[in-house]
Amino acid sequence: MKIETIQGQVFVFPSYRCSDSAGHSHPSETVTEAKMALLTITADDGTQGRILAPVEVIRPFVLDSFARKVLIGQDPFDRERLWHALEQWQRGSAGQLTDRALAAFEQALWDLAGRKLGLPVYKLIGGFRDKVPAYGSTMCGDELKGGLSTPDEYADFAVKMVKRGYKGIKLHTWMPPVSFAPSVAMDIKACEAVREAVGPDVPLMLDGFHWYSRMDALTIGRALERLNFTWFEEMMNEQSIDSYAWLAGQLNVPILGPESAAGKHWARADWVRAGATDILRAGVPGVGGIGPVLKVAHLAESFGMDCEVHGSSAGNLAACAAIANCRWYERGLLHPFLEYDEPPPYLNTIWDPMDSEGFVHLSQEPGLGEDLNLDYIDAHTISTY
Ligand code: MG
Repeated sequence: MKIETIQGQVFVFPSYRCSDSAGHSHPSETVTEAKMALLTITADDGTQGRILAPVEVIRPFVLDSFARKVLIGQDPFDRERLWHALEQWQRGSAGQLTDRALAAFEQALWDLAGRKLGLPVYKLIGGFRDKVPAYGSTMCGDELKGGLSTPDEYADFAVKMVKRGYKGIKLHTWMPPVSFAPSVAMDIKACEAVREAVGPDVPLMLDGFHWYSRMDALTIGRALERLNFTWFEEMMNEQSIDSYAWLAGQLNVPILGPESAAGKHWARADWVRAGATDILRAGVPGVGGIGPVLKVAHLAESFGMDCEVHGSSAGNLAACAAIANCRWYERGLLHPFLEYDEPPPYLNTIWDPMDSEGFVHLSQEPGLGEDLNLDYIDAHTISTY
């Protein structure tokens, strides 16, 4: 079996989200037109693997300069060899071949393999469970009345999330350009209000401003200890491993990371050695694929640590279901103004349906689990390459 073609396809869809000047996502007051890309890898027997990806990640230059050179003519089942061949191209790519692009190509290969073999990807990896408990992950704070603009609004929303079935809640608090952000005091108030509202037994996590100083991070961390939080995530610049080691050495609340730091599984080994984290972190796009997430999880398991998977996607869910030492699936981002359970028009169903007990169930269909509405995508395609 050989890879014959690699195609990118950009389509448009109506979105109820917008990005602020720092790139954080919020509910939009008007419907906007958003773009998404679909990557399709086709083998010589007609089997296809697909994955949705941001438009820039799999733009024509990336397909022409790297993916087609490395993948065309190769056996799509040689994921490990092909991943390393792509990964080594990164050095000479002047930053153009990103970890996110690696993740897109690798996930399309997983999807192709699952479809060829008639298996969901998590079973192909080796399943650990068929449903994963989800924590509800809020959007970043805002200044929208009735949204996430005050500690009390976070508390009200947290109560609704618990009623929906979520067994854990993670707050993303306020970041610039919100007028009063960043604010140590407001972050602590939001955490206090949510703890007060949901009671002592609901696991809570904080993912606040990512560029606090050591002393600000320590102040928040002490409050989270008092409030019995489950973890404290990316509160400082992750480029400084030593700052995380300094903080982890002083706090009892578990530190989780790194999420956005580069370096895939190799960098995460350095974090463990440095004592910079208590719970490892890896997301499929962030570390370059499902394979590297599994490597991080197995590294963590070998050290008796958990590895929590970053972000909502079919690939992340498949990884969660194939890892023993991952407690949660991150579901979101959630906001009082947005309906997460409704599929966007390019999907027939969402990839992470959650029951009233807070469990997300894995699709039993062959492949990665993205239930694409290909008719909608084809009808709204603006470029194919
Ligand atoms: Mg995070």
